[in-house]
Amino acid sequence: MKVLVPVKRVVDYNVKVRVKSDNTGVDIANVKMSMNPFDEIAVEEAVRLKEKGAATEVIAVSCGVQQCQETLRTAMAIGADRAILVQTDEELQPLAVAKLLKALVDKEQPGLVILGKQAIDDDCNQTGQMLAALADLPQATFASKVEVADGKAKVTREVDGGLETLEVTLPAVITTDLRLNEPRYVTLPNIMKAKKKQLDTLKPEDLGVDVKPRLKTLKVSEPPKRGAGVKVPDVATLVQKLKTEAKVI
Ligand code: AMP
Repeated sequence: MKVLVPVKRVVDYNVKVRVKSDNTGVDIANVKMSMNPFDEIAVEEAVRLKEKGAATEVIAVSCGVQQCQETLRTAMAIGADRAILVQTDEELQPLAVAKLLKALVDKEQPGLVILGKQAIDDDCNQTGQMLAALADLPQATFASKVEVADGKAKVTREVDGGLETLEVTLPAVITTDLRLNEPRYVTLPNIMKAKKKQLDTLKPEDLGVDVKPRLKTLKVSEPPKRGAGVKVPDVATLVQKLKTEAKVI
C-alpha cells in the first residue's frame, strides 16, 4: 500500500510573524520556513506504518514555490521514499491544493492519504476534507491513533469530552492531531541519504488543474495591543477592581 503525505512549507512555528505595513498580509521575507508541524506528524505516522509492514511506499508531496523542495527533503530524511513537487509561484488556497492532490491520488492510487489537520500559517483546516470530497474517499479527521489492518483503518479522534473511534475502508483520507505521535529527530546520515532520493517536479497544468485563487484577502491586522498591568496590594483591592473596573464579577 502506498501512502501519500502532503507537506506544506510554512513560517516556522517559533517565528513571531509581522503584519505588513499596508495590511495586505504578513511579511515572510527572510523568515525561517519549516515543514508544517502537523505534516511532520503525518510523515512520521506514514513511516511508522511502513516500518510495521502496513505500507510499502511513502510519497511526500508539496505544492508551491521551488523552495518547497527543502520541505520534501526533510520528509525524505524522516523516511519518505520519494517526493513530488507541484511547482507554482501562484498563491495556493486549500481548494486548489485539494484539486492538485486529487489529481495525484488518481495518478498514484495510494491506499491512504495522511495530511495535517491544519496548516499553521492560514489555519484553514480545509484541505483534507475537500480532498476526501473531491476524490470520493472516506475521511477520519483529527486522528490521535491510527491502526491499519485488513483493508481498513481504525482511527481514534479527540472530540469534546472524550475519544471517538471510527473505522474507515481504505483508500481513505486521514488528518493528524497533535497527539498522534512524536516525530523522530532527523539525523545527519538520513539527511545525506535523502539528497539521493527521487524528487519529481510537475506543474499544475501537467495535472490539468486551474489553481487561480477564489478568495481575496481584504485586510490583515495585528491583534489589539494589551495595556500594561497593575499590581494590587491585597485581595480586597483585587476583588473591588474586578467588580468596579473590569466588571467581571
Ligand atoms: P489547511 O487546510 O490549509 O489548514 O491545510 C491542511 C493540510 O493540507 C496541511 O497540514 C497539509 O498536510 C496539506 N496542505 C495544505 N497546503 C498544502 C500545500 N501547499 N502543499 C502540500 N500540502 C498542503
